[in-house]
Amino acid sequence: MHLTDGVYFYASPGGMDFSGDLCSNAIVLKGPTKLVVVDPGTLKRLPDLKAQMIDDGLNPADIESVVLTHSHPDHIESAPELAAKYGARLYISRIEREFLLETAEIFFTSYVRPGPDVVFDLCDEGPLIASGVELRLISSPGHTPGSLSVYVPQARLLMTGDLFFPGTIGAIDLPGGCPGDMYKSVARLRDLGGVAKVLCGHGPAIIDRYMIIQNYRALFAEIAAKKAAGIV
Ligand SMILES: [Zn+2]
Repeated sequence: MHLTDGVYFYASPGGMDFSGDLCSNAIVLKGPTKLVVVDPGTLKRLPDLKAQMIDDGLNPADIESVVLTHSHPDHIESAPELAAKYGARLYISRIEREFLLETAEIFFTSYVRPGPDVVFDLCDEGPLIASGVELRLISSPGHTPGSLSVYVPQARLLMTGDLFFPGTIGAIDLPGGCPGDMYKSVARLRDLGGVAKVLCGHGPAIIDRYMIIQNYRALFAEIAAKKAAGIV
């Protein structure tokens, strides 16, 4: 689905249902000649993602860059396939690459693990130009230690991976989750100026300022309740 100038949003088939066959939302950013995909999702969903891109006039063979918000398989399983088939570069944070090596055995039980031959481009917080698209990577630990949020200044679009969703924060009780980091990361993103749209790793698009403000209210109410219960 074409969301806004140069931004295409492909919602995960499961929505916010975290049981069963999990797959993330995928976001495609159009550069001058090539494409960036943020979190391509699972191998099972890849044919459908490509079909939807073609419907929108995008050529999957133009995928040149893949940016991974974090290393969970529902977000990254199909990334090595995009590298092998189209020569796409796979960007992941330095910390998250380490975390992936440590935890693949836990998280990839029912998914295909990235082989030892898969090359990742390691990145840190800061600016990144991928396929001619200006991005700003923001370190957002809490759900995993090396999670990144991705901001696209030109589209005033923020992508949060699994840090939070519409109405709720991401899981903090999985290996690598940290309630204190989650709280700080959500607060940091809330204070980021100029954001007009937010796309999360799961769930529908948050498409205007009012919805964004309401959502942060809900997130902080949840964090306050968790703090009161002694979880954060
Ligand atoms: Zn995740």
